Amino acid sequence: MKPMLKQTVLRMNVRKRVALIAHDNRKFDLLEWARYNAGTLAQHELYATGTTGRLLTSELGLEVARFLSGPLGGDQQVGAGVAEGRIDFVIFFWDPLEPQPHDVDVKALLRISVVHNVPIACNRATADFVLSSPLMETEYVRQVWDYGTPREMH
Ligand code: PGA
Repeated sequence: MKPMLKQTVLRMNVRKRVALIAHDNRKFDLLEWARYNAGTLAQHELYATGTTGRLLTSELGLEVARFLSGPLGGDQQVGAGVAEGRIDFVIFFWDPLEPQPHDVDVKALLRISVVHNVPIACNRATADFVLSSPLMETEYVRQVWDYGTPREMH
């Protein structure tokens, strides 16, 4: 069976660009996870939504580039980074038990990460498996769909 669309590849370097996001009820969980993995995380380029990033820096001393707070557009900024190839993977501890004012942004980020074949870990166990993967220490060639330039699509 033929693939739906042509595929192209994007190269992830050894030093990955990792975005971290946690909803309020999951921030403790993310901080605990990040504390345990601080040594590994520090080897990568870290990004986070506003409050999550502030906590990672103040509690763990990690160097983190901060986007806006999630409800103010931070999730969308992460999504733009994914779409433009500036983010290699996402650790996103979203809250499955409470509605968020920015639910649509959350859904959009989950969707765009799948579209661009970006790994996205939404709970601690997945984050453990991703971070301990041997692929974290090597270059990785990521397959992505090639939609062509907007011009070619018309
Ligand atoms: P925050 O945003 O890190 O600014 O709290 C996270 C979110 O709610 O998406």
